[in-house]
Amino acid sequence: MAKIQMTTPLVEMDGDEMTRILWKMIKDDLILPYIDLKTEYYDLGLEHRNETNDQVTVDSAEATKKYGVAVKCATITPNAARMTEYNLKEMWKSPNGTIRAMLDGTVFRAPIIVKGIDPCVRNWEKPITLARHAYGDVYKNTEIKVPGAGKAELVFTAADGTETRELIHNFTDAGIIQGMHNTDKSISSFAHACFQYALDTKQDLWFATKDTISKKYDHNFKDIFQEIYDASYDAQFKAAGIEYFYTLIDDAVARVMKAKGGFIWACKNYDGDVMSDMVSSAFGSLAMMTSVLVSPTGVYEYEAAHGTVQRHYYKHLKGEETSTNSVATIFAWTGALRKRGELDGNMELVHFADKLDKATVKTIEDGKMTKDLALITSLKDVTVLNSEDFIKAIRETFETL
Ligand code: NAP
Ligand code: MG
Repeated sequence: MAKIQMTTPLVEMDGDEMTRILWKMIKDDLILPYIDLKTEYYDLGLEHRNETNDQVTVDSAEATKKYGVAVKCATITPNAARMTEYNLKEMWKSPNGTIRAMLDGTVFRAPIIVKGIDPCVRNWEKPITLARHAYGDVYKNTEIKVPGAGKAELVFTAADGTETRELIHNFTDAGIIQGMHNTDKSISSFAHACFQYALDTKQDLWFATKDTISKKYDHNFKDIFQEIYDASYDAQFKAAGIEYFYTLIDDAVARVMKAKGGFIWACKNYDGDVMSDMVSSAFGSLAMMTSVLVSPTGVYEYEAAHGTVQRHYYKHLKGEETSTNSVATIFAWTGALRKRGELDGNMELVHFADKLDKATVKTIEDGKMTKDLALITSLKDVTVLNSEDFIKAIRETFETL
């Protein structure tokens, strides 16, 4: 059969360790046999980032802005141990952080639902997608440990020198204070990304903060979302038959636990950090999540939500068998190929992505899976496959569809 042709290249960001091994297997067994793959390749493996003084990460993000769609393999974020292990010139920053800052994006994560891998919450029938604002608040805070009695104030000095002051607290004894910020620009980008993603995936959008307590800070988030919604999205949401609604964070948590799923939950930075780990582990596993960074200008970067699975990689290097779950990485590829197809009007590419997703899910539902899933499945008589045989099993399923 003739291979599917592509008109515009995907930006391909290769990565590290076990996921780099899976990356090649996925391409060789599941993609190259069917697609005349066009990519602009960037090697974000730590060695190459070090060689290029991390310029390759910046170049890959620029290319993503240019072409609009990227697929990224998991990468090492260096720490002290990695400095020695890879003999690094510098402790390079997290590639995800660099790319996110350059694309000004919001990260959307959703579980991949498979029969036999059941969510801990019985009534969750459909995926819950978490949209996390990835800038500011407590992640860019300033803190002081107050040693004893004294006055703490919040001071803003405008560009013209005018000062605005607010009393935080008159301390009579030791304590703590914290200052944090966000910008209207970043909150607006977050709002646009959420509204666009909701339209894209035809799902309701929920947003929640604690504006009853934080009457200026959190209220600002609420107001910006509402203004942008009213000005640019209300008609489109109505046409798509979806809804935007705002509520308090504690009410949102209560509603999420009772909901059926099938919506997007937009969270401020800290709420998103905490709630995405809760939602993802309740749905089963990080290896069964899709993750996509969406910029307010409509640029998409698809990745897996998990890391480079270092422990499995060391086993692999010793020649031992691994059973590493490649589902999230396969879905990163299909997500990117589908989006490329949609943007280029290339329906063959879209159908291919849908079919490969289906084959991946069916393989697991047929009882063929990696060890991590075998440990949590409710299916009986499952076959535990190694990393490579699982990918080959998906290929076999794909051929039957
Ligand atoms: P990890 O790669 O997420 O793996 C942690 C553990 O989770 C694994 O040891 C494994 O448990 C399980 N696991 C994760 N993904 C799995 C998969 N696909 N299949 C089967 N099991 C899976 O985290 P890490 O090993 O602590 O971190 C390794 C590197 O990843 C770090 O250098 C970190 O900087 C980087 N990282 C990158 C990203 C990214 O690029 N998006 C995200 C997070 C971390 P068992 O060992 O029990 O089998
Ligand atoms: Mg976290």
